[in-house]
Amino acid sequence: MTHINQQVLDSLLDQIAVINQDGLIIAVNKSWINFSHENDGDLSTSGIGSNYLHVCKKKVRKGIECVLTGRKSHFIFEYSCHSKTEIRWFLLRATPFINNADDDSFVIVSHVDITNQKLIEFNLQRSENYYRLIAESSTDFISTQTLDGVYTYISHMCNLTLGYDSSEMLGKSAEAFIHPEDVNLFTSLQDLIQNEDKIQTITYRIRCKNGKYIWFETKCQVFLASNGECEEILCISRDVTTEKLKLNQLERETHRLQKAIFIDELTGVHNRRFFNKILNEEYKKSIHSKNDFSLLMIDIDYFKQYNDTYGHPKGDQCLSLVANTLKSHVSDIGFVCRIGGEEFCIILPNINNDQAISLANKLRYEVEELKVPHANSQTSLYITISIGVATTISHHSPQIDSSELLVLADQALYKAKEDGRNHVINNVVFDNFRRSSS
Ligand code: GH3
Ligand code: MG
Ligand code: MG
Repeated sequence: MTHINQQVLDSLLDQIAVINQDGLIIAVNKSWINFSHENDGDLSTSGIGSNYLHVCKKKVRKGIECVLTGRKSHFIFEYSCHSKTEIRWFLLRATPFINNADDDSFVIVSHVDITNQKLIEFNLQRSENYYRLIAESSTDFISTQTLDGVYTYISHMCNLTLGYDSSEMLGKSAEAFIHPEDVNLFTSLQDLIQNEDKIQTITYRIRCKNGKYIWFETKCQVFLASNGECEEILCISRDVTTEKLKLNQLERETHRLQKAIFIDELTGVHNRRFFNKILNEEYKKSIHSKNDFSLLMIDIDYFKQYNDTYGHPKGDQCLSLVANTLKSHVSDIGFVCRIGGEEFCIILPNINNDQAISLANKLRYEVEELKVPHANSQTSLYITISIGVATTISHHSPQIDSSELLVLADQALYKAKEDGRNHVINNVVFDNFRRSSS
């Protein structure tokens, strides 16, 4: 070996020995010598002159012989060489070296310290086994997906939960299994988890092999994939169909009860509780948006006599008929509320005084047109109603509140009764100036 070659060898950190065709060590580098000294091995001196093939393992000897005889281009062998205090792994590599100067051929044997790489591999393998065991023994359905939602791993629960073999899902888009109404939910979730580094939860319907949909609650997060380059989504899903159905039923029941507590049982229109709740809310909204606000206070005429003449059950039927007539003509422009026995109040947000008067006249007319006979009414042959109208005109910045407007509507109703019933009386409010008209 030339002086230059020795310098080159010494500059390398791997432990290197050059052996000749007989296996004799003819050159070593500094790392080799240091390692021998530090480890008190067989090659306690530099080792030059000793036969490497006599001291190495049988498998290594055979490998090196193959390289020496040209049967193999190279030979590699991983081995552990733990000291008393530390774990160590090496990679032995034997490669041919042709010395053109003396036309001789040698083999370069190098030992590369791969301990760190090995420890990382062990830890990775351990984690992989660990998580695979958890995934496979979990009763949750665990999957990984690409960022586009294509399944890349499916735990065995796909069979128990959904009825599919993993091969029927792997490589397919998750969207293909999701209920069409929930697909948007899922795609927006994919965007969300790519932007926010935290676990997200989603509940949606997924199709089983038998065609039925079940409810899945999925927790997911984006992770760096095992190749370290791309990201993937880890999803842990659970069948929550039973809970979801119970919840839906509970929600329906709650909704029904919420509606029921605001509905008058006899007539089906809103009740006094509803009236008390929304009168002020709607009043404030109208005034805030600079719209007029009207109330119609309605009372059935001579209803006591009606009950006395036809009996209470007929009276109930009549009440219900009148209430529903009011409701059908008010539709969605206002709220018909039964606030007392045979008294109703109609809340009309954003309805001006002219509109309110014309509606009141229409309602008065329509009720009489029902032609419900009332033999003891002193105003008509039929059931009739009296109506008091009150309106707050918003651009005059009202000085009254909703309860005062209610009093004005009540006063107008009282006047309608006084004027002989089956009448509409108007009470319109302009700022501080109040005016009554009929
Ligand atoms: P006015 O024209 O002055 O309003 O006379 P009226 O008889 O309608 O008024 P009054 O207040 O004297 O009587 C109201 C009657 O309404 C008394 C009651 O028997 C009847 N009433 C109240 N609630 C109900 C109900 O739920 N069902 C029935 N059938 N009648 C009711
Ligand atoms: Mg009455
Ligand atoms: Mg009354």
